[in-house]
Amino acid sequence: MPDQATVAGAAAIRPKPDFLKELERASGESVSSCYHCRKCTNGCPLAFAMDVLPNQVMRMIQLGLENEVLRSKTVWICASCQTCTTRCPNDIDIAHVMDVLRQWNLERGVPPGEAKVVKFHEAFLKSVRRHGRVFETGMVFGYKMATKDFFGDMGIAWQMFKRGKLQFVPDSIRGRGQVRAMFDKKRKG
Ligand code: SF4
Ligand code: SF4
Repeated sequence: MPDQATVAGAAAIRPKPDFLKELERASGESVSSCYHCRKCTNGCPLAFAMDVLPNQVMRMIQLGLENEVLRSKTVWICASCQTCTTRCPNDIDIAHVMDVLRQWNLERGVPPGEAKVVKFHEAFLKSVRRHGRVFETGMVFGYKMATKDFFGDMGIAWQMFKRGKLQFVPDSIRGRGQVRAMFDKKRKG
C-alpha cells in the first residue's frame, strides 16, 4: 500500500498543521476568516501570470501547505499594488500576507518560483541600502551581473536613455547612513 501522500510518483504533500497560526502571528492578518469569495483574485491585475491565484494562496495557507505556497510563482509575481486588500470583505491585507511569504521564501531557503524576480528584488534593495534611494543604472547593472542576462531589455534601456531616464551618477540622499543602519538592524534580526 503506497503512502497516502504519494500519488503516482508526485512529490509528497506534507501539510504543516501550525502554518496558518504562524502566518497569522507574523502578519497580524486573519487569514482564517477568508471564505473564498474570489474578490481579491477578480481584481488582481497580475492574476493572468500567476500559477496560484490570490484566493488559492489563502486556501493553501489555511490547509498548511507551506512548501507549496512558498515556492509558488505568485508570491514573486505579486506587485504589492494592494487592489486585493482594498476589495476583501473580511479586511484581510492580502498584499501584506504576500510580503511575509516572500520574506519566508528567502529566509527558509525554499527555491523561489521566479528566480529572476528575486534577483531583481535583491538588486533593488542593495541600491536603496547604498544610496538611500534607488539608483536605476546601478541597480540594472547589479541585476545583469546576477542573472548573466547581459543583452536582454536592450531596446528598453535605449528608450530610457533617449528620454534622459538613466542617470550615470547616483543621486544619494543625505540620511543614507540611517537607511543603511535600518537594513543592517533588520539583517541582524
Ligand atoms: S477577497 Fe478576502 S475573503 Fe474573498 S477570497 Fe480574497 S482573501 Fe478571501
Ligand atoms: S497586491 Fe498582489 S495579489 Fe494583490 S492585487 Fe496586487 S498584484 Fe494581485
